[in-house]
Amino acid sequence: MTAPAPKPWIDAIAPYLPGRTTTDSGVRATKLSSNENPFGTGAPARAAYAAEAGTLDRYPDPGATLLREALAAKYGLDPTRVIYGTGSDEILHLAAGAFAGVGDEVLQVRYGFSVYEIAARRVGATLVVAPDKDYATDIDALLAAVTPKTRVVFVANPNNPTGTYSNRSDIARLHAGLPADCLLVIDQAYAEYLAPGADDGALELARGAQNVLVTRTFSKIHGLAAERIGWGYGSAPVITALHKIRAPFNVTTAGQAAAVAALGDDAFVDRSRDHNATWRAWFATTMNAIDGLRAVPSEANFSLILFEGRLTAQAAFEGLMERGYIVRWLPGQGLPHALRITIGTEEETRGVAAAIADMAAAA
Ligand SMILES: *Cc1c(COP(=O)(O)O)cnc(C)c1O
Repeated sequence: MTAPAPKPWIDAIAPYLPGRTTTDSGVRATKLSSNENPFGTGAPARAAYAAEAGTLDRYPDPGATLLREALAAKYGLDPTRVIYGTGSDEILHLAAGAFAGVGDEVLQVRYGFSVYEIAARRVGATLVVAPDKDYATDIDALLAAVTPKTRVVFVANPNNPTGTYSNRSDIARLHAGLPADCLLVIDQAYAEYLAPGADDGALELARGAQNVLVTRTFSKIHGLAAERIGWGYGSAPVITALHKIRAPFNVTTAGQAAAVAALGDDAFVDRSRDHNATWRAWFATTMNAIDGLRAVPSEANFSLILFEGRLTAQAAFEGLMERGYIVRWLPGQGLPHALRITIGTEEETRGVAAAIADMAAAA
C-alpha cells in the first residue's frame, strides 16, 4: 500500500533537533543546550501565569490586546503593527510563508538559526547561504548573494549559534543594499543580552521602512520558553499579511498575562543580563586560556567554543554528557568542531569549564 507522499520540498527538510534534556544514559542533567534563563522565570510573570488557572475554558484574546499595548508602550511602537506568535519561531515561518514560495530564494548566513532553513523549505523556496567571516555575519557576502529572486533575508543579531553581533552601521548597510521588494527579517531573540545602550537600530528601521520585520521572544531572557510567546514589528502591509496566515488563537491566555508581567519586570531582566555578561566573559577567558580551544566573541547568553586542538568537540560533548552536562554539538549545521554552551548559573558555568579543562589536559 502506498502512503500519501509529502511534497518533495517537505521531504527534503532535515528535522529541527531540539536541545536535549537527558543524557545518553537517561539521567536528567544540567541542561546548557537551549539558551534558557538559569534564573528561571521572574516572580511577577509566574504569579500572572498562575492567576489565569480559572480561565482555561475560554479561548485567549485573539488580538493579544494587552500584550501589544504593553510592548508598544515599552518600545515606543504602534500597537497595530505588532504581530505575536507561538514563539518567535511561528513568526519566522509566517514571514517565509507570506513572502516566499516555489521559485523564490531565501537568504541567510552560513551559520544561521536552523529554523530559517525549515521555514524556507516548508514553502518550497530555495535556501541560499552566504559565507561567514570567521563565524560572524558578513554583510558584503550577504549583499553579494542577493538575486532578483531573493524574497526574504533572515539575520539573527546577535546570531545563533555563533553569538556574534553586527552593529548599527552593519545593519543599516545591509538594509540600504537590499531591494525594496525583499523582506529583511532581523531576529533579535538575544537583544536583551546586549550591553545597556547597545542597539543595532533594527527597531528604528522597522518603524520607518516598509520591508523590515524585527522579531523578539519571551523564551530567552524573560524565562518563558514553555509558554511559546514571540512578537514582531514591521510595516502595516507586512504585519497585515502575517496576520492572515497565523493560527487564530496562537498565544495562550496565561502566556499573554505572563508576558505582560515579564515586560514590566526590569529588575529580573537586568539581573539576568548582568549575570550573563559576567559569566560569559569569565567563560570565554577560561576557554581561550586552554590550548586548542577558542571562544567565538559572543553578545548572547551562550558561547560557541571551537575545538582546534587534540580534544575534539565530539569527545568533549560525550565527556560532558558522562559528567552530567548537556551542551549543543552541531555537526548537522556544519559545526562538527564546535560546541554551543549556554551560560548557566555560576556553579554550572564553573562546573562545565572545569570538566572541559580536565578533558583537554588529558587529551
Ligand atoms: C531561541 C531562538 C528563537 C526563538 O524562539 P521561540 O522560543 O520560538 O521564541 C528565535 N531565533 C533565534 C535565533 C533563537 O535562538
